[in-house]
Amino acid sequence: MKEKTKKHKIVLFAGYACSNRCVFCVNADKRGLPGKTTGELLSSIYAAQKKGADVLEIIGGEATMRPDFTALVRAAKDVGIAEVVCATNGRVFADMAMARAIVGAGIDALVFSIHGPSAAIHDALTASPGSFSELMKGLANLKKLGFKRVGGNTTVVKGNMRALPALAGLYVRLGIRNVEYIFVDPNYGGARNDFSGLVPKISSAAPYMRKALGIGLAAGFDQWKARYVPLCHFRGFEAQISEMNERRLFHTEHWAPDFINTDAIVSRGVVGRRRTEACKGCARFHVCEGLWVEYLKRYGDHELKAIK
Ligand code: SF4
Repeated sequence: MKEKTKKHKIVLFAGYACSNRCVFCVNADKRGLPGKTTGELLSSIYAAQKKGADVLEIIGGEATMRPDFTALVRAAKDVGIAEVVCATNGRVFADMAMARAIVGAGIDALVFSIHGPSAAIHDALTASPGSFSELMKGLANLKKLGFKRVGGNTTVVKGNMRALPALAGLYVRLGIRNVEYIFVDPNYGGARNDFSGLVPKISSAAPYMRKALGIGLAAGFDQWKARYVPLCHFRGFEAQISEMNERRLFHTEHWAPDFINTDAIVSRGVVGRRRTEACKGCARFHVCEGLWVEYLKRYGDHELKAIK
């Protein structure tokens, strides 16, 4: 049930088609599913407004590839949704005309997925040569247009964890004040299919994630966050854990072509992630979501240490 103190966020999945082929993508096995039609998405936008959505996040796959993307953004703004945002691989924005059209349609914020500080790392993880240079050009185009509300997100996997401090340096140079370092979800998709190739131990990844958060703090960027991590590996960074802020601030629904989840935050904690016997007596037990279920199946829980 929505609490009045929280923002109501609806994440509208337009479809799973994408111009990248990220090796860890949670939707890697869904790319061939048919996307929603324009009519279906417009109906969803009107329904979201009726349900009192404060935030509408339109995502894919890669929603910006759709010929109707600007019309969808405009429709959401026209019905009065306060914040219309989109997580994107950023490639479309390399085309200045497209960047101008999307900004002109009224998008409020964009989150660019940047998976490495260099083309070598990013393009290897997106399995899409040229994707890094296009997103960098996209960022430059948005800057030229004076569009400032750009955030970043990075999926943390074996192939980029050591480069997180360098990536943090890039985020600082780009002036991106909202960044999420997201520990890869192996419950579904690419990371489940290639678990050993992609999923690092949390005890190996966390030091690089903490270092990246520290680089942000030193630059004055206190809104950088880590997501999907056990709190015992992030002591001292509790204010920068996405889930803790998210539970306090948002009620989130997911509306996808193949499922509807009316409380995505609660169900992730109940179904997707687990605390274990190792968590007994932990001072953070009631605010921590633990580790991904698939992670625990493969690596076990010996890295978890109850906080006294
Ligand atoms: S021991 Fe368990 S509950 Fe405590 S911080 Fe670690 S994962 Fe979370």
